[in-house]
Amino acid sequence: MSKIPEDAIKCLDKGFVRLVDAMGGDDAIVQAARVSYGKGTAKVSQDRGLIRYLMRHRHTTPLEMVEFKFHCKMPIFVARQWVRHRTANINEYSLRYSEARDEFYFPDPEHIQFQSALNKQGRLGEVSESLKTKVRDYFEEISNRSFEIYSELNDAGVARELARAILPVNLYTEWYWKNDLHNLLHFIGLRSDSHAQYEIRVFSDAMAESVKKVAPFAWEAYQDYVVSGLRFSRVEQSLLEQNLPERVVDDILEDIVYQITASLHNNKPREDHELFPLYEKQGGHDSKDDFMLKWDSGEIEVGNVRELREFKEKLLSLKK
Ligand SMILES: Cc1cc2nc3c(=O)[nH]c(=O)nc-3n(C[C@H](O)[C@H](O)[C@H](O)COP(=O)(O)OP(=O)(O)OC[C@H]3O[C@@H](n4cnc5c(N)ncnc54)[C@H](O)[C@@H]3O)c2cc1C
Repeated sequence: MSKIPEDAIKCLDKGFVRLVDAMGGDDAIVQAARVSYGKGTAKVSQDRGLIRYLMRHRHTTPLEMVEFKFHCKMPIFVARQWVRHRTANINEYSLRYSEARDEFYFPDPEHIQFQSALNKQGRLGEVSESLKTKVRDYFEEISNRSFEIYSELNDAGVARELARAILPVNLYTEWYWKNDLHNLLHFIGLRSDSHAQYEIRVFSDAMAESVKKVAPFAWEAYQDYVVSGLRFSRVEQSLLEQNLPERVVDDILEDIVYQITASLHNNKPREDHELFPLYEKQGGHDSKDDFMLKWDSGEIEVGNVRELREFKEKLLSLKK
């Protein structure tokens, strides 16, 4: 089985993730999206805006135009979780065809913890040094012994496809794993999350490094709208509608209107006398004097006009 290649990211004690090949990047997403939205003039900032729009509106098929092929080596129990992601193409090292190597995962002491009482699928709390040593010893004992038996059966000519069944799930396996960006982000979203098991999170985080390099705008948008974005259920929304003071919503709306005005001006500079009417047209309620005071303070942030308008619509819906 492979040693850790130079261009790979080491994962756990003996595993790795290596990007073998990538097809496309942010450009490929934009190229595909423009088939549906029409060409227009394509500046880098517009590409970023378009990708952010796609992510915000869950128009995800353009993301499927980007492909990643990884060579990965991981313990079988990690692979077991990994294969649940059905949208990838996989080719795995075969223990029917080839002999297993003496490569087992032994957890670092810092990752040997107690079963969490709160999270039935998690670990928590510091265990004693003596228990950590015992865990390590058991891992080594069972791995070494099972490998001895495996080798004995192998030497006796027992079929490899049967002899392998004696080996534990901390044995390392490896595969080529190919997936498109949309499904890879979904994988990373689930497996880099704090609820995922530490051992698979390490691999997911390593793959995320490739995504950041290959499709930085898509990665940024995924973080902003999916990972850090909040969705409210109907019940939660109705609670917000009932309990959020109208004054608070109005204050935020006013800020948004200032930001829309500043962003429009930033995109296409207006004459001074056009600014206040522009602000009023966006729904601003301040007097001209107050407007000028705030405008001259230079504290108004600029953003993406479309996104700000969408936020304004959401806020208005809370006032209904
Ligand atoms: C923290 C955590 C805990 C978990 N615990 C358990 C557990 O206790 N037991 C367990 O069995 N699993 C568990 N899983 C696995 C989980 O249920 C999913 O099987 C796994 O995360 C793959 O997710 P997926 O189906 O969305 O991904 P993928 O298979 O990559 O699919 C991506 C998306 O494609 C679509 N899709 C793919 N195939 C189909 C299909 N056949 N029909 C309809 N839509 C499809 C779905 O929209 C899906 O979300 C856990 C996962 C996590 C992250």
